[in-house]
Amino acid sequence: MSARSEHRLSFRDRCDVRRRLEYPPASTRDRYAAVFGRSRRGGDVSEPARGRREISTLRPQNDAINRYRSSDLSFPRSSSSTGKKAFVAGVADDQGFGWAISKCLAQAGCEVILGTWVPALNIFETSLRRGKFDESRKLSDGSLMEFAKVYPMDAVFDTYDDVPEEIRTNKRYAGNEKWTVAECAEQVEKDFGKIDILVHSLANGPEVAKPLLETSRNGYLAALSASSYSKVSMLQRFGPIMNKGGAAISLTYLASERIIPGYGGGMSSAKAALESDTQVLAYEAGRKWGIRVNTISAGPLGSRAAKAIGFIDDMINYSLTNAPLSEKPLTAMEIGQTAAFLCSPLASGITGSCIYVDNGLHAMGLATDAKSLERSD
Ligand code: NAD
Repeated sequence: MSARSEHRLSFRDRCDVRRRLEYPPASTRDRYAAVFGRSRRGGDVSEPARGRREISTLRPQNDAINRYRSSDLSFPRSSSSTGKKAFVAGVADDQGFGWAISKCLAQAGCEVILGTWVPALNIFETSLRRGKFDESRKLSDGSLMEFAKVYPMDAVFDTYDDVPEEIRTNKRYAGNEKWTVAECAEQVEKDFGKIDILVHSLANGPEVAKPLLETSRNGYLAALSASSYSKVSMLQRFGPIMNKGGAAISLTYLASERIIPGYGGGMSSAKAALESDTQVLAYEAGRKWGIRVNTISAGPLGSRAAKAIGFIDDMINYSLTNAPLSEKPLTAMEIGQTAAFLCSPLASGITGSCIYVDNGLHAMGLATDAKSLERSD
């Protein structure tokens, strides 16, 4: 054996590629089935996909009921956050990070108030009322998570003066009022007084499917407006109604600092801005109001927003194959629990930080399943 192949062999052992070679690369269908427990066409896959680890260990990633089962809540009902008031922006179903964060905050004893995007509000409230989310609402003691109030909100507009005529008269906004960021903060203060926790779990990039090289100025600025400036705007308006010792968090993604082809339309730039702003806002809001500002860099999740990008299944599969923690899929609840910790007094010394909750994928410098690592001898 040559020195080169010896080196390659020990390297492979270190990255556990041997296990991968015993389980040869699966077909696209098998990979999809392994992650989602069903074929792309929707048929349930009960047999393990050939050549892969057992599906049962990989299956829950995109299964809302599994993702939100109460046994996933690994801390007791009520904790050091009991009695705190949290405003969570960016919940319109039970599939995304905002829902999981709300649930973990509720589990920790917080009163949870929502800000839901106006065009999504009606269907969200109807589904909530009809019990569609009841399974996902279950807390560890069997009670259901309650929302103190759901406000309409559009984080792209700071005040009503900023709202253009076509939105004022748009039927998706009809019947709702006081939904700009400033008006929403005023309503929250009027109804609840001061709050303790501010969660920004929203993003929007109309041209996300386009490479940056093909992104228009409008598309790029819209991505920054909805996904980054919205955080600045929220902190400007909610900061003054937050108690000293409070905390604000947002959700970011690795594409801010590493190239993720396909995450386009200026969304990678928006996440880079969000992370940089987290540091500056931590300083300014810390000095001004005594509140902490952090962001969580989350691994891939098949939320509604992520599905719109079009390649989230591949990202989940890539993470499962290449992250240091590859035996278990990342769950939204793991992000929720980190958020609950960051917003609690347990994290009183943490501010201006980006915390990775991605099974460790950010730390990898090499894709362990890369074709170029395969041995030819
Ligand atoms: P999601 O669809 O559950 O959440 C996005 C929310 O943003 C939706 O509720 C939508 O209604 C809301 N929204 C969009 N435009 C808005 C506006 N103008 N005003 C108010 N609300 C608006 O999807 P998610 O993936 O849970 O996204 C939450 C956050 O997590 C986002 O910041 C996203 O970039 C981030 N994130 C997601 C992933 C992933 O793989 N899903 C990974 C890392 C980070």
